[in-house]
Amino acid sequence: MRFFIIGFGQAGGKILDLFLCREKEAGSTIKIKPLAVNTARTDLMGLKYVPKECRLLIGQSDPRVKGHGVGTDNRLGAKVAQEEIDTILNAIDKMGTHDIDAFLIVAGLGGGTGSGGAPVLAKHLSEMYPEPVYAVGILPAPEEGKLYSLNAARSMISLLKYVDNLILVDNGAWKFEGMSLRESFTKINEEIVKRLALLARAGEPVESGMIGEMVIDSSEVINTLRGGGISSIGYATTLVEDKKSKGFSLFRRKKEDEEFVENDKATKIASLVRRAALGRLTIPCNIRSAERALVLVAGPPEHLDRKGLEKAKLWLEEQIAGVEVRAGDYPTKRTKHVAALVVLANVTDIPRVKQLQRLAVEAKEEIETVEKERIEKTLEIFDEDLEPLV
Ligand code: GDP
Repeated sequence: MRFFIIGFGQAGGKILDLFLCREKEAGSTIKIKPLAVNTARTDLMGLKYVPKECRLLIGQSDPRVKGHGVGTDNRLGAKVAQEEIDTILNAIDKMGTHDIDAFLIVAGLGGGTGSGGAPVLAKHLSEMYPEPVYAVGILPAPEEGKLYSLNAARSMISLLKYVDNLILVDNGAWKFEGMSLRESFTKINEEIVKRLALLARAGEPVESGMIGEMVIDSSEVINTLRGGGISSIGYATTLVEDKKSKGFSLFRRKKEDEEFVENDKATKIASLVRRAALGRLTIPCNIRSAERALVLVAGPPEHLDRKGLEKAKLWLEEQIAGVEVRAGDYPTKRTKHVAALVVLANVTDIPRVKQLQRLAVEAKEEIETVEKERIEKTLEIFDEDLEPLV
């Protein structure tokens, strides 16, 4: 799955940067096109792995922005993105889109630049390109306050109009014990990147000399994520034992041993997938409300297993509302872990989203009341007999 990843705003840029960092460390051959877009110069300067020519500063000509960001004003973020949409689209076009499978916009939805800019970009990309447009939207934690919730709700509603799928991540659900939200960001970003890295491997050529048990195509990812809606992602890993150290010699192994090992492998894969689906999801949701699902398992080839994947697929088919479950694997020698990714597509029962919608309505009403009171108070200063102009 060859993604054109656009990190919009600070959180989006940082996640993109970390993605590139981890891919580099892993000696990855996966093809990714990166672009970081921001209204704050310092945020762009803080990136280490996004090449300089793949960073774009917007809003310089706006006197309220001038390279310093838009604060938490996502309407200003959207305005700046709209005014400079040609610059952004030209940058994307210049980097080339002929060999990509999909666009992926990553943004924090509670702030200003990414929250406002991501929907504007999604709209234009979906109008201009045949490739699907996905977004990874990071929801603010409740402790960040109502303004962030209002921003996130507004951005989410706009994004859902234009993206083929919105993958949500809930900062509130992911805050780590004993850590502040800011301290948690680094760990949350690692979790997001692990999931995206596995998704990016779907349908990609495997390392030389490796053959997948059940190969999944990028078109199957696209089919899972089609038609709009929200997705949540589950993930689980297990460290695999080194066969040599366990004394499993291929030459000495008896037939019963082999069968036992095979069944054991299948059970392990199936339970790993179950763990991924039932463990911490990027956004907590009712798995039974998912319309489709995608399972991807990656790890050393001797630990992958077709039977296990099929078992997992059948189990997942029983769990979700729909019947479409796709499953595949990706053999790699570059790790001692087996990882399972479960994408729950088009989930509808998401408590945090409902809560955000409620909070946003409250916040909007509060803002309107405050504004009304302020206007009334201001008017009181003037003589009541004064005739208004219009
Ligand atoms: P922008 O630069 O104006 O787009 O604003 P940010 O990207 O900083 O978005 C602010 C929102 O994103 C807040 O709700 C933060 O909780 C969240 N956020 C900021 N940085 C990070 C990060 O590195 N990781 C995660 N997971 N969330 C972040």
